[in-house]
Amino acid sequence: MEEIRKRALGAYLGLAIGDALGATVEFMTPREIRHQYGVHKEITGGGWLKLDAGEVTDDTEMSLALGRAILQSAGWDGQAAAEAFVSWLKTKPADVGNTCRRGIRRFMADGTLSGPVSESDGGNGAAMRILPVVISTLHDDESLHEQIVAQCHLTHNHPLSDAASTALGSMARKLILGGGVKDCRKIVNGLVEKHPKFGFNPYPGRASGYIVDTMQTVLFHFFHTDSFESCLIETVNRGEDADTTGAIAGMLAGALYGLDAIPDRWLKRIDPGVSAEIRLQVEGLLGLGGQKAPAQPFG
Ligand code: MN
Ligand code: MN
Repeated sequence: MEEIRKRALGAYLGLAIGDALGATVEFMTPREIRHQYGVHKEITGGGWLKLDAGEVTDDTEMSLALGRAILQSAGWDGQAAAEAFVSWLKTKPADVGNTCRRGIRRFMADGTLSGPVSESDGGNGAAMRILPVVISTLHDDESLHEQIVAQCHLTHNHPLSDAASTALGSMARKLILGGGVKDCRKIVNGLVEKHPKFGFNPYPGRASGYIVDTMQTVLFHFFHTDSFESCLIETVNRGEDADTTGAIAGMLAGALYGLDAIPDRWLKRIDPGVSAEIRLQVEGLLGLGGQKAPAQPFG
């Protein structure tokens, strides 16, 4: 399989695996996790949502909804994306973040594709679902940034959410295209320089749904582990918003280490309908923006 395809697929399946793995320990403290599981490292379902093993949550579902909208419109269309979130909300998902619900309801009420900048929009609900935008704009950095911010503002309009989401998008893009940790450090240095709140060394210790806590947790473990498996295990064992830190860490680690680095026992556990749709979406999304335009021949 072509390397770009493997890394894009690794990122998307990694997102779903991190979500499914982390959901079991969402809202627990690291201490409670240690007490109950020792180290939590198997996809067993359960948790406060009482999931089946391999079931994913809103993080993966909203990404899939966004991917569907991008594929149906053959590119970015804010209206289509918002409508896809409405359709998803109507399926009565097991979990919906408060800010996401509020944003989707706003669109249903007034048709706007963004609310005003709001202090209460600093959650991680927009950052967790950027991947389909990244894959569909792989070779177009400007569109990537514009579309990521547009997709964020459907439900979250907050400068730190925007900054984190575009940084994550740039990292995922670089990695899928074959970049490495060094490229990611550069992007993250830029983020922390501009918004020192995101500083994560030494690890401040919170893994909540606040975008700053989420980023610190994901970045610390992404840079301090050397495999897909260890990155996800260390991340989700920090508890709190573990499905979302797991999903974002899974996206980055999957893009860096690639599909072949994902443990088989986790790949096999993921809901087969979800992995099938992820595989289809990756093919379609890569077709939209993943192919470099062929060089113009001279003469
Ligand atoms: Mn979730
Ligand atoms: Mn979550």
